[in-house]
Amino acid sequence: MKLVIGNQKSYLEKKEIDSFKQVIKDVNKDNFILCPSSIYLNEFSDLGLLLGCQNVSKYDKGATTGELSCEQIKSIGVNFCIVGHSERRQLFNETIEDTKLKVSKLLENCMTPILCVGETKEERDNLKTREIVLNEIEGALDGLNEELLNNIIIAYEPIWSIGTGVIPSNPEIEEITKAIKEFLYKKYNCNNKVLYGGSVSCKNIDELNLIDIVDGYLIGGASTKANELIEIIKKCE
Ligand code: PEP
Repeated sequence: MKLVIGNQKSYLEKKEIDSFKQVIKDVNKDNFILCPSSIYLNEFSDLGLLLGCQNVSKYDKGATTGELSCEQIKSIGVNFCIVGHSERRQLFNETIEDTKLKVSKLLENCMTPILCVGETKEERDNLKTREIVLNEIEGALDGLNEELLNNIIIAYEPIWSIGTGVIPSNPEIEEITKAIKEFLYKKYNCNNKVLYGGSVSCKNIDELNLIDIVDGYLIGGASTKANELIEIIKKCE
């Protein structure tokens, strides 16, 4: 069974969330985590789904207008949170130090960070994928309490693949996933789940599922379409 995490970004409006919920309500809850816009988290609380946020404040709860603190999201039953997504890094100037603070706060609050890492097209073309990805992981995790690091999920998301419909080949995904797992094991003695993310859809899920070493998928665009999402989840059971 592979884990499916849906990152709905800021696509859906309230009416669309209502119809999404109607379709998704009977989904198998064992291998699925939904990360809707935070304003809709409570809409899903009666479905018994595992829920995640798409971002969290690097600050403690308090005088931080417009932020959502770890303490707050934990208090409404959210146990997962995406951190370091490339859209946060590129559009909101999130640094690796910011990401580390967020990972640390989530772990302290017994939540599971979903740490996104991945290279740009230029870095890929310059054969830097492995170096970039492992540096990002090290930058986000070094110095944190090593006993807690097993609780992190890593999402390998090549930036050039997000929302483009273009994905790496299976051997490429396999190679980098293996490198990530080996790095985490050697450096921190951890056996983290490693997911693939970037343009996963109904069209490519059968092919992607052939990669045994990948533990699941972080899905953006396709997670906003309830029927497509359900089909993907079923194929991952
Ligand atoms: C993402 O943004 O995490 C993502 C994987 O997006 P998409 O599936 O739309 O490429």
